[in-house]
Amino acid sequence: MRLILLGPPGAGKGTQAQRIVEKHGLPQLSTGDMLRAAILAETEVGKRVKAVLDSGKLVSDDIVIAIVSERIDQPDCANGFILDGFPRTLVQADATEAMLAAKGIDLSVVIELRVNDKELVRRVSGRYSCASCGSVYHDTDHKPGVEGVCDKCGSTHFKRRPDDNAETMTQRLEVYYKETSPLIGYYYAKGKLKSVDGMAEMDVVTSQIEAILADL
Ligand code: AMP
Repeated sequence: MRLILLGPPGAGKGTQAQRIVEKHGLPQLSTGDMLRAAILAETEVGKRVKAVLDSGKLVSDDIVIAIVSERIDQPDCANGFILDGFPRTLVQADATEAMLAAKGIDLSVVIELRVNDKELVRRVSGRYSCASCGSVYHDTDHKPGVEGVCDKCGSTHFKRRPDDNAETMTQRLEVYYKETSPLIGYYYAKGKLKSVDGMAEMDVVTSQIEAILADL
């Protein structure tokens, strides 16, 4: 199964991808996570993209296409993968098609998560994660069971993404509507698009996604 999760920042792509990972054992390929890891490791790519991520703009197509192309050649992607946050432009979508065609494989489905802007800003502004294992929490929607202790790994260190603030979010949403939302039509025309109501409860969204995957 090779699927793409499409949607604006804060739509729940990462959360739902994690659930698909757990249920189906597919690797989650998040370009945002890969870029943040490169920044943390201070690689050449990391140094080049740091300011771009902080501003909420998009990293150049060449950089992300090269990262994904290398990643999907890894053995753990042989039986499928979840693309989370990629493709984000029409150039990236065409490159994805070319990458898959070169391997003789097809895209299974593109799942679009629909959430309104007000809710996206609310979700992103309250988002934080465990500094050790990356589990994601929210100030009001999803707190750890024991205050200040990660449910998953027990760490007491948490962090917030520098781009998860209302100001940068305005830029990220603008970029989404201009550069990424055209992919909705692109995949609809190819008969690959399925949309789910991302405003619903997290578990309900998961059930909607599972129903789509069961139909493949
Ligand atoms: P995300 O974690 O998906 O919200 O991505 C965080 C940031 O990483 C974005 O605001 C972009 O600056 C960059 N980024 C992630 N994925 C891509 C992509 N496919 N194309 C360009 N930039 C990306």
